[in-house]
Amino acid sequence: MMNRKPRVRFAPSPTGALHIGGVRTALYNYLFAKGNGGDMILRIEDTDTNRYVEGAEQYIIDSLEWLGIKFDEGVAVGGAHAPYRQSERKDIYKKYVEQLLVQGKAYYAFDTPEELESSRNQIQNFQYDASTRMSMSNSLALPEDEVKKRIERGEKYVVRIKIEPNEDIVVNDLIRGEVKINSSILDDKVLWKSADGLPTYHLANIVDDHLMEITHVIRGEEWLPSAPLHVMLYRYFGWTDTMPEFAHLPLLLKPDGKGKLSKRDGDRLGFPVFPLDWIDKDTGEKSDGYCQAGYFPEAVINFLALLGWNPGTEQEIFSMDELIKTFSLERCSKSGARFDYEKGKWFNHKYLQSKSNEELAQYLLPFFPDGFFAQSDRYRKLLSAIESVKERATFPKELYELVEFFFVAPTTFDDSDIKKRWKEDTAAIMEGLAELLEVLPSLDDEYATEESVKGWCEAMGYSLGAVMNPFRLVLVGRMKGPHIFTITRILGKDESIKRIRYGLNTIK
Ligand code: GLU
Repeated sequence: MMNRKPRVRFAPSPTGALHIGGVRTALYNYLFAKGNGGDMILRIEDTDTNRYVEGAEQYIIDSLEWLGIKFDEGVAVGGAHAPYRQSERKDIYKKYVEQLLVQGKAYYAFDTPEELESSRNQIQNFQYDASTRMSMSNSLALPEDEVKKRIERGEKYVVRIKIEPNEDIVVNDLIRGEVKINSSILDDKVLWKSADGLPTYHLANIVDDHLMEITHVIRGEEWLPSAPLHVMLYRYFGWTDTMPEFAHLPLLLKPDGKGKLSKRDGDRLGFPVFPLDWIDKDTGEKSDGYCQAGYFPEAVINFLALLGWNPGTEQEIFSMDELIKTFSLERCSKSGARFDYEKGKWFNHKYLQSKSNEELAQYLLPFFPDGFFAQSDRYRKLLSAIESVKERATFPKELYELVEFFFVAPTTFDDSDIKKRWKEDTAAIMEGLAELLEVLPSLDDEYATEESVKGWCEAMGYSLGAVMNPFRLVLVGRMKGPHIFTITRILGKDESIKRIRYGLNTIK
């Protein structure tokens, strides 16, 4: 191979929402390109008009932008090889199809869908290839003038590749090693259709990889079966010197059981398989995205990076920059990667812990009335409240529920907690506790408050449980929340005492 600047492409077909597996493919391309001083290109493969879905292209662009996967060239970015949308490159493909026809490496085929169907019914395991093509309606089997007449008459045709049988085809895969097959198992795939003047995926993909000077094709394992045909096309065009290297990434597997991860697994087990919310225009069905479900883009990136690649060390938390430095195709695995979505949550939890309280506060502001935090002591209280509970949160949206009691005093108390924790003498104990707190100068020092309360318990002969449990109940409304003297520090002396008195007068 020549020493060329690495150039990779992410080449999705806009047929619907971008699946999380596609996001991983984009990520690995990006990490490889950036780690090797190369370029990353976004090419939209929209030559299959039947499967085209409105809005899918924009969705792909928005998703990757949210995740911080950036392109050097491509749709929405531009570049020296524009246009990057295959539907806008019709004339280019036409030229290359003609080249193959002239060289006898491809031929015209007129078989109607009905004729193909009848061949399939008559011949077991029918495949359009060297063994069958001479009995079909194509330019190899029909007289030349007949072919000419049909084309002039405007009869619909396709162009098929003429696969030479019994040749060895070797795909050198950077992850899988050498994959060798015999060309006889390939069929004469359609490369181009006169009906819409568009190429099929195979032809457009190869021509563009060549013209766009792609050096590495990194894509999902589901494309491995197409690779021998692609190698064959490079040979037919005489481009083997600049043929890209291949790397087929392992499948993402179901979290449980066997097989490939599907959207249904997400619906069944309750996790998103798309980066952003997606509404299916045909069914109206809405699917949750990682973004709207409360995942941080860094967490999704970190999670996906480790599904099919491992750094060879114990390190689990990686920023994008660290991933770029560490990633290598050699450390990608051949075997499928189980989609452990609980691990995805674990990453989100970790990233949430690393966010500043100020940053997390932004997620909570919409829950409060306008101007609520104009008073700066309230905002300080919010930051302290977040600090005290964030360890318990995986998603920012859980934070409000966790801090709410700091701002809204409980007016009702959990029945089962009352039953368990509120004894006959509890009201008297709480009154004594309120009196104790009243004489303390402040509750700002958690440790000092704790010492005073514990000393008082001991002097009064109360067990800690008899005091602390109902104390928590009156402060929070139930047996939840952070350390009790953290709560009293954040609530302050007056509010803490007020809540004790309200509780002891309300709970019967
Ligand atoms: N258009 C194909 C896809 O949707 C691209 C496959 C490839 O990368 O060659 O994934």
